[in-house]
Amino acid sequence: MDLSVTCECGLKTQVTPTMCGSSVACDCGKAIQIPRLSELRRNAGLPPVMVGVADKLQSMLVDGLLPAEVGCVSCGSPTNLYLTCEIECERMFAKKPSYASYFLQFLFAPVWILGATKREYDNPEVHGRELVVKTPIRICETCYSKINLNRETCIRFMLSNELYAKLLARYPNALVVWETALRRSNKAMDTKGSIDAP
Ligand SMILES: [Zn+2]
Ligand SMILES: [Zn+2]
Repeated sequence: MDLSVTCECGLKTQVTPTMCGSSVACDCGKAIQIPRLSELRRNAGLPPVMVGVADKLQSMLVDGLLPAEVGCVSCGSPTNLYLTCEIECERMFAKKPSYASYFLQFLFAPVWILGATKREYDNPEVHGRELVVKTPIRICETCYSKINLNRETCIRFMLSNELYAKLLARYPNALVVWETALRRSNKAMDTKGSIDAP
């Protein structure tokens, strides 16, 4: 089941959870407002149970309330450093041809094939659905340099957050990914404040 929004004109446009709260342009030219994730998933007939948790985490992230803990998840000492992690509960795979291959075909293909390729580029084939939740954890520099970060340690740290734990319990086989550098929670330093991994 895919997430989509319907325009006044009747056309459906596919959207992803990360687009919630923004708007998307319909083929007719009108801008369609994308509702909250919970509403989207409800419209798509997806189970409401996880909507609560994923949706809550998404809005907490937007409101700057994550990571929720005030100290390092490992030693508890106060720090403004955090690691961006993601729980990929359900992943949507889009087979989008690269612009390079599109361009090569532009050079060598007859016009009718070009039309087909252009359509393929604009409307990539989409498989499955997507539920990827950002789950930052606060961790100090000392612990970060000492700890061998892998799936197990990452999950152990995430379990200290009640909502992350709920999500992991619901999706035990979820893919867990994390960034290779710490970030600073100070918004002003966010872009330049990351520290290289040891
Ligand atoms: Zn429309
Ligand atoms: Zn620490």
